[in-house]
Amino acid sequence: MASIPQSKIDEIQAAADIVQVISRYVALKKAGKNLKGLCPFHQEKTPSFIVSPEKQIYHCFGCGKGGNVFNFLMETEKITFIEVVRNLASDYGIKLPRHEERSADAENVFDRLYLANVAAATFYQKQLFQEANQKPLNYLRKRQLSDATVKKFGIGYAPKSWDSLQKYMQKQTVQTKTLVELGLIQKRDSGGGYFDKFRNRIMFPFQSTSGRFVGFGGRRLVESDQPKYLNSPESEIYRKGELLYGLNFAITKIREMNLVILVEGYFDLLRLADSGIENVVASSGTAITEQQGRLLKRYTSRVLIAYDSDEAGISAAIRNSEILEQLELDVYILRIPAPHDPDSFILENGKEAFLELIRQRVTPFDMKLQSITGQMQELSDEDKNQAVDEMLQSLVKLPNEIKIGLYIHRLSEKMEIAENFLIARFNRLKQRQRVGITASEKLPPVEKFRVGEWQAEENIIALLLLNESALSNQILHQLSVADFENEPLRNLFDRISREWEETGSVDQQRLTSEFSHAAEGTFLARLLLLEINYPEKLAADCIYRLRKRSLDKRFNEIKRIMNEESASHNAVMHYLKELTEIRHKLSEIEKEHTRFVKANL
Ligand SMILES: [Zn+2]
Repeated sequence: MASIPQSKIDEIQAAADIVQVISRYVALKKAGKNLKGLCPFHQEKTPSFIVSPEKQIYHCFGCGKGGNVFNFLMETEKITFIEVVRNLASDYGIKLPRHEERSADAENVFDRLYLANVAAATFYQKQLFQEANQKPLNYLRKRQLSDATVKKFGIGYAPKSWDSLQKYMQKQTVQTKTLVELGLIQKRDSGGGYFDKFRNRIMFPFQSTSGRFVGFGGRRLVESDQPKYLNSPESEIYRKGELLYGLNFAITKIREMNLVILVEGYFDLLRLADSGIENVVASSGTAITEQQGRLLKRYTSRVLIAYDSDEAGISAAIRNSEILEQLELDVYILRIPAPHDPDSFILENGKEAFLELIRQRVTPFDMKLQSITGQMQELSDEDKNQAVDEMLQSLVKLPNEIKIGLYIHRLSEKMEIAENFLIARFNRLKQRQRVGITASEKLPPVEKFRVGEWQAEENIIALLLLNESALSNQILHQLSVADFENEPLRNLFDRISREWEETGSVDQQRLTSEFSHAAEGTFLARLLLLEINYPEKLAADCIYRLRKRSLDKRFNEIKRIMNEESASHNAVMHYLKELTEIRHKLSEIEKEHTRFVKANL
C-alpha cells in the first residue's frame, strides 16, 4: 500500500466533505438526517443512493455500492486510491510529504499509460508546428481555426512515417509494450518489429474529465486514406462509450449555463469553441450511450443536440434524445438549415445566427409532431392513427408525468383528437409495455454476502459501530473472532475489538478510511447507515444465534471425529467431557435468551 501516512489520509478525509464532493456528480436532496439521490452507479428512477453527512459515507440500497469519499472518487473517476488522495490533497490545499508524492510503490499502474499518452500528445503537437509539416497546419487554418483553439485542444499531427513516433518514444524510455497496449504502434504481420499506427493524420487527444490523456482520434489528411477517422482502441484507461470529446474544457461553462450543446464531430466542437461558445461536447459518432448521458447529467439538466441537418443527423438526434430523456434530462434539438452542420453554418452565417437557432430550439416531441402535421393533408385516417400511436409510444418511456401531460395536450390540439381519448390510448400502450421489465431497470444482483445466515454477523458489527459502552462490552465479552464465518465481517470484528480493548471506543472515520479499498469498506458503509430501533434486543438475539451456531458446529465436529478416528480411551474421555460442556453451555444460552425475550415482551 501507499507510503502516504494514515494521519495525512485522515486529514484529507476530514477536509473533503463527502456531501460537497458527491454533489459534483449527483443531485442530492435532504431526506431526514441523510441526503438522497439517483445512484450514479446503476440505472434507477427512484433514488436509493444515500449519503450521510454525519458519518461521511454513501451507500446505494439498489446496487449495494458504498464507502467513503475515497471509494466514491475511485469508482466514478476510475482512478486509484493514491490518485484520489493526491487529487483531494491538491483540491483542499493539503501538502503531502514531498518524497511520498511519487514514491515507487505509490506509482499507479495506470500512470505508465497516461504518461505515455502525454508523451505522444507532445510529440504530435510539436510535429504540427514544425516547418516541414506545413500541410496539416494549413489544413486547420483553411478550416479557419485559430492557432489559439488548436493549441488549447492540444491538436497535433502524426507524420507520414512508419517509425517516427517509436523513435521519439524510445528516447523518452517508454516501453514498446506500453505503446502496443495504447494502440499507438502495431506489430508487423511479417518480419519483426512494429509500425506507427497513426500516419499522416490530424490528431485529436481524448482527455478524461480530470484532463488526463486517455487516447486519440486521428483524421486523415488525404481523402484516399482509410478510414476517415481512426481512433485509439479501448484500453485500461479508455472506454469509448464513457468519454465525451471536449468535456474537460467545457465543464465550468456547462455548469454556469446549465446547458450542454452536443455536437457530432471534432470540427463542429472546435468551431463553436473558436466562436466563444464553450459549453460544447462532441459525441464523436452519432450514437451516444447511457454512460455518456449520465456523465453529462453530473454537470447539467439540459442538453441541446446540434447534429447535421441531413436525415441521418435528424434521426440520430431523435434516437439520442430518447436515451437522454430516460435519464430525466431536458432535451432540445437544434434545427440547422440544410445542407449545414454546426461548423459550416457558423462559418457561413456567423455566431449570432447560431445563437438565434439556439433560441428557436424545439423538444424532440415537437420535432416529431411538426414532421407529422407538416404532411397532415396527405395522411389517410389509417396513417394518422399510426402516427398518433407512434407519438404516444415515444412518451411511454418518459419518466416525467408532467411532461407527458403537456405533450398529450399538445398532441390533442394539433391532431384535433379529444385529450381523454389520447390518455386512454396512452394508458393502454403503457400497460402493454409493462409486461416485461426492461433490462436497464433490472437491478444488478445483490452481493453474495447479504444472505440471511450472515445477517447476525452483520448486525453485530452494526451494533459495535454504535459506540455504546454497555452494549459493546456485552458483545465483546460473549463473542470472539471464531464466531464469525464471513471473512470481511470477521476482519471487521477483529479490528474493532482490538481498538475497543485499547481505547474503549471505535473511530468510525478512521475505520472506513482504513478499509476504503477492500470488501470490508462496502459492508461498513451500509452497516453505518442501518437504523437500529432496539439495540439491546437485537444484540441479545444475534449473540444467541452466533454462539449457538458455533457450539452446534463444534458439537457436530466432535461427534464426527469420534466416529471416524480410532481414538484412544483418554481422547474419547476428553471428547465426551467436551460434549457435555457444550450441551451445558447450549442450554445455558438457551435459558438466558428465553429469559431475555420474556423480560422484553
Ligand atoms: Zn446503485
